[in-house]
Amino acid sequence: MATFIVLLGPPGVGKGTQAKILANTKKLAHISSGDLFRENIKNQTELGKHAKSFIDKGELVPDGVTIGMIRERLNRADCKPGAILDGFPRTPVQAVALEKMLAEFKGQVNVVPYISAPEAVVVGRISGRWTCRLNGHIYHQMFNPPKQTGVCDIDSSELYQREDDKVETVTIRIRVYLEQTIPLVEYYRKSGKLIEINGEQAVEQVSKDLYSAIKNHFM
Ligand code: ADP
Ligand code: ADP
Repeated sequence: MATFIVLLGPPGVGKGTQAKILANTKKLAHISSGDLFRENIKNQTELGKHAKSFIDKGELVPDGVTIGMIRERLNRADCKPGAILDGFPRTPVQAVALEKMLAEFKGQVNVVPYISAPEAVVVGRISGRWTCRLNGHIYHQMFNPPKQTGVCDIDSSELYQREDDKVETVTIRIRVYLEQTIPLVEYYRKSGKLIEINGEQAVEQVSKDLYSAIKNHFM
């Protein structure tokens, strides 16, 4: 049986950072919907062009497009043992679609770590975030600086600040999160799969808490 882990939490709380660590240690695929959109934008695909108009405004990309993109990703061979889903689902419609997709693989969402931190903390994290152009590796100018300013430690590509990380767009993204994604917290809590993680701690401590929360859920 495969293991599927859904990471929930506000923008900037550290989902991508934790997903990358966990994917490495547990040899699971890391599916980041934001990274997939950014890859499509970079490659100027039709999906990318369509998604960009929403992402630039801080709004969610419509469910149909997003679900189709994730379905295609889940079908790739590296998802056989399971995956960590980071940024998807973000709406109840997406959550229901995910269940249907996983049922096709004879799988299900096993556990949903919900990483939370106060708004001021996530805003501070987003405003110092630097992202790697080639593979989306994540840095923070204070909390996780690269060895050399502006250069990724892992693949030496350029680091950039995401257009949607500017403060006006972040305010909209947080509002969208509260309106459209918070309902998922209750949805997964009712299903008994939600495990709350204090995201207001150093990366290493969040990783430890995350690991102990999920360690009994591997198939
Ligand atoms: P998300 O995927 O939830 O948007 P990221 O993993 O991209 O969040 O992290 C947002 C920013 O916060 C990045 O700059 C990252 O380096 C930094 N960060 C992540 N986790 C922590 C933490 N526990 N403490 C301090 N900074 C963190
Ligand atoms: P963050 O890690 O800071 O939360 P992401 O990289 O996950 O940001 O997402 C960036 C943007 O991509 C979102 O603001 C939204 O426009 C779009 N996006 C990502 N995932 C989804 C999703 N599941 N549904 C709709 N839009 C999405």
